[in-house]
Amino acid sequence: MEKRVYNFSAGPAVLPVPVLERIRDEMLCLPGCGASVMEISHRSKQFMAIQEAAKQRIIRLLGIPDSYDVLFLQGGSRLQFSMIPMNLLRGQAGPAQYVLTGSWGKYALAEAKKEGATEVIFDAAATNYDRLPGAGELKVRSDAAYVHITSNETIQGVQFPQDLDLPAPVVCDSSSDIFYRPLDITKYGLLYACAQKNAGPAGVTVVVIRKDLLERSNDQLPGYLNFKNHSKEDSMWNTPPTFAVYALGLVTEWLESTVGGLDAMYEINKKKAALVYDVVDQFPTLFTGHAKKSDRSLMNVTFKLPNDEIESAFLKQAQSHSLDSLKGHRSVGGIRASLYNAMPMEGAQALASFMSDFAKKNG
Ligand SMILES: *Cc1c(COP(=O)(O)O)cnc(C)c1O
Repeated sequence: MEKRVYNFSAGPAVLPVPVLERIRDEMLCLPGCGASVMEISHRSKQFMAIQEAAKQRIIRLLGIPDSYDVLFLQGGSRLQFSMIPMNLLRGQAGPAQYVLTGSWGKYALAEAKKEGATEVIFDAAATNYDRLPGAGELKVRSDAAYVHITSNETIQGVQFPQDLDLPAPVVCDSSSDIFYRPLDITKYGLLYACAQKNAGPAGVTVVVIRKDLLERSNDQLPGYLNFKNHSKEDSMWNTPPTFAVYALGLVTEWLESTVGGLDAMYEINKKKAALVYDVVDQFPTLFTGHAKKSDRSLMNVTFKLPNDEIESAFLKQAQSHSLDSLKGHRSVGGIRASLYNAMPMEGAQALASFMSDFAKKNG
């Protein structure tokens, strides 16, 4: 069998090996089914139990109270960029306020503009999205329909280290950092994440929504685009992405049983990121970090080398050490090492020691 690389892809991304092994073992015959999870009805008692167990694990991991619902949707986070303003902005008195700390926030804003009044209350464009707003920098209106933030900007590598406490419902795109640490969900009106960065395979998007916000959805919306339908039918309004929900369920089971919960996961994530950032900081003539130090992401480590030639050599040599998919996003350039939950400590160690050796030879 071919050897697995250390996969630093930004998404779809690395999955825990025990999850992949379990999927392999159950692929032909899901216990008690005599068939694959992909071949059974979404309304079978076996699949309903799988989906409910995944939901309950998410509820436990994020400490979600009864006043919230958890939905499994399709269309990725991109569809949420539209669905959220369709449901939560249309018909509201105040505008939706957007906090722009990177590319994904800008894409979210562009879709919201089609649905109603928006206002940008922070935009780090002037410094090429290298920082977060400072304390007191966000002027939130109390009548805002919601305030949209991106907890982790996957492309720039800028991440909010804490939950914000704002006087309007916070809507958070957590696509690339859901489950990386425990959070206080009551600080949010809605939190959403496509699975393929930090939670599972592509195909399912998790939406955690405060139930009172469901009342904003207008019945004239197309059925699939109405949050209320999905909530009422427990994410069975239409056929859910059954395989992706099953795999997401296995990832959350791994987080609970093998990792030991989100406190433990957070400690591991801090250690992994520190290993790599320490080397970046140790060789400042070779590595230039993109994000301001205090605003660095634990998930996506972004940095540049002095020129294209050294960068190509870095990527080529990394590849020969089984360090894969380190090229930065085309809009930012440089290097991006994604250290999601499933990246093992050894992967971060291997990258850090490769970088250190490379710096000593080329610094
Ligand atoms: C990847 C990503 C998206 C887009 O997700 P899709 O599932 O491709 O629609 C949105 N926001 C963030 C922060 C992302 O990292």
